[in-house]
Amino acid sequence: MIINDLLVRLIVRKDYDPKEYDKPFWLVITENCEPAVFHICHDSLLGGHQKWKRTCVMIADHFYIVNLAAKLKRYIEACSICQTVGHKPAKESLIQLVSEALIQQVFCVFTIPKMLCVDQDTKFTASMIQNIMARLKIKMHVISPMNHGSLKAEWQIQTIQTILVKQLTRKGQDWPFYVAAAQCATNTFASTALGGFSLHELVFLRKPPKFFGGGF
Ligand SMILES: [Zn+2]
Repeated sequence: MIINDLLVRLIVRKDYDPKEYDKPFWLVITENCEPAVFHICHDSLLGGHQKWKRTCVMIADHFYIVNLAAKLKRYIEACSICQTVGHKPAKESLIQLVSEALIQQVFCVFTIPKMLCVDQDTKFTASMIQNIMARLKIKMHVISPMNHGSLKAEWQIQTIQTILVKQLTRKGQDWPFYVAAAQCATNTFASTALGGFSLHELVFLRKPPKFFGGGF
């Protein structure tokens, strides 16, 4: 078939459902174009360096690539950003980071509060933070003590954080530039944990805009 002056091969979707898919076929990606698709769907701004499974679902929704799962796995394993950022910093350095952020971004900007409401994250209950609070005479109030991390909202924060961290360079001052794209990548992903719906769909009751595969 010729589309936009290009000779393309299409495979008809046997499970085509107009409510689910834009088009009743997949565009077959030739081997020389696979790296470009992997780049767009994995390490571009909107790809957000999401994990293998998510990237795989995103590509398979629009394109047909022979042995997609294995090829994509090798591609992500070779992604230098995923390899270097995938390791979590030590807990001590995270506690120090939270302490510094509290002092520099909260107390120095808004003055020292009388009380701080926190959840039961161990970074807040660590002795370093407790000492700072005691010296500054700030009362710490723990909210939803039995609930931390159990909400689906908390999971999304983690996902956005993971995507953001992978985009950052050097000290990460450029993080505001990536927030909207990271949010979009998270909000438009149809998650099995949400019954096959995306957050976008749950809020707006319609499918999210498609950024990949709509241009052919
Ligand atoms: Zn990556």
